[in-house]
Amino acid sequence: MNTSAYDILIVGGGAAGFFAAINAAEFNPKLRIAILERGKEVLQKVKISGGGRCNVTHAEFLPKELSKKYPRGEKELLGPFHNFMTGDSIAWFAEKGIELKTEEDGRMFPVTDDSQTIIDCFTKSCRRLGIEIRTKTSLQDLQQEQEGWKLKTSKGNFSAKKLLLATGSNSKIWQLLEKLGYDMVEAVPSLFTFNIQDDRIDGLAGVAREAEVRIQQTKLQSSGPLLITHWGMSGPAILKLSAWGARELHRLKYQFQIKVNWIPGMEADGMLEKLKELKIAHSRQFVPSRPQFDLSKRLWQKLVRAANIPEKTNWADLNKNQLQSLAEELTASVFQVNGKSIFKEEFVTAGGIDLKQVNFKTFESKIHPNLFFAGEILNIDAITGGFNFQNAWTGGFVAAKAMAKN
Ligand SMILES: Cc1cc2nc3c(=O)[nH]c(=O)nc-3n(C[C@H](O)[C@H](O)[C@H](O)COP(=O)(O)OP(=O)(O)OC[C@H]3O[C@@H](n4cnc5c(N)ncnc54)[C@H](O)[C@@H]3O)c2cc1C
Repeated sequence: MNTSAYDILIVGGGAAGFFAAINAAEFNPKLRIAILERGKEVLQKVKISGGGRCNVTHAEFLPKELSKKYPRGEKELLGPFHNFMTGDSIAWFAEKGIELKTEEDGRMFPVTDDSQTIIDCFTKSCRRLGIEIRTKTSLQDLQQEQEGWKLKTSKGNFSAKKLLLATGSNSKIWQLLEKLGYDMVEAVPSLFTFNIQDDRIDGLAGVAREAEVRIQQTKLQSSGPLLITHWGMSGPAILKLSAWGARELHRLKYQFQIKVNWIPGMEADGMLEKLKELKIAHSRQFVPSRPQFDLSKRLWQKLVRAANIPEKTNWADLNKNQLQSLAEELTASVFQVNGKSIFKEEFVTAGGIDLKQVNFKTFESKIHPNLFFAGEILNIDAITGGFNFQNAWTGGFVAAKAMAKN
């Protein structure tokens, strides 16, 4: 079978692959570059990302702060972020005519609120730069040669002086890499919501508030907005825990207890004192009728009931046990988590190539020269908010620069 020869081959037509291909071609327009994609369509994850709006990056402009958003990859990405990070992504897209906007929580989206804007930008750039896009072309095997790499695919053989693997979490490629001597860190889900069936949150779907959450018997804790859903709990406070605890929670088979403090910054002792003051101040009022601490009325009533306080109880009639119990419910409600659900806006897999085997100055393999990696194929992942794409942009850019040299 004939072999098609390229300067650079990119395997994987996703975010990292496209960003690398376009930047390599911009660095050196003379290079012959192709993207090999196993699917019928490219950029499928970009399409569905951010609920169809594509959360491109996050308005965090300090490399050190940005790197802290990566439970896996924090140390390794710090250097690359000095090379290409948020501000560079914004400028890169602006230069291609795409304006990004920042939402209140820092997430950045194209002003069109449509992921197709990003896809069109990438495919148009490829056309302009003469980058070949070969779909339905699945990498099956690869072999190192004196002058680069030889690839066996479902559409014949290819050769390239430099090869970038950006195939995400495809297990077949991971097996192939294992054969080549790479340590692959086992894949486990990250960014998921907690399934909880509990009367205290039943019927409260949609209620959101700032909270502190701890996972019992672990060191995992987080704070931020917590959202009650039909199935349990979600929101940044929960999603952050799912990312930082991806491995530990997998080991626990997603069965564990969490302690929720609905009044962040307040502990049970301080709360008890506060409730004693309220007992005096509101002595003649029914406890459930007037929510305190900015809690929604329904959540307040649920917590009051959980503290064994009957509906028609005046503040003045609360006994010591009831006060103690309410203080606990407000600052340390324990919930049993039974399983997880997919967070539809964004989810990722933790795991991939062991970062020790990659040179993060170039994203080149430390084992094989002329072999590069970018995106989710590496054991790098982030909390939700646009950080996972930023990893794809940064890796794609740094690898492109290195591959386009000479
Ligand atoms: C529903 C959802 C929403 C998301 N939303 C966001 C968001 O808004 N913001 C954010 O930052 N992150 C988001 N993410 C995460 C983000 O999509 C990923 O981190 C990112 O796509 C990783 O890019 P990648 O190029 O490494 O991998 P991928 O995007 O997975 O691309 C890999 C490509 O390689 C191809 N491939 C695999 N094997 C082969 C093979 N053998 N031969 C040829 N091609 C192959 C695949 O078909 C695929 O096209 C979301 C993820 C999901 C699932």
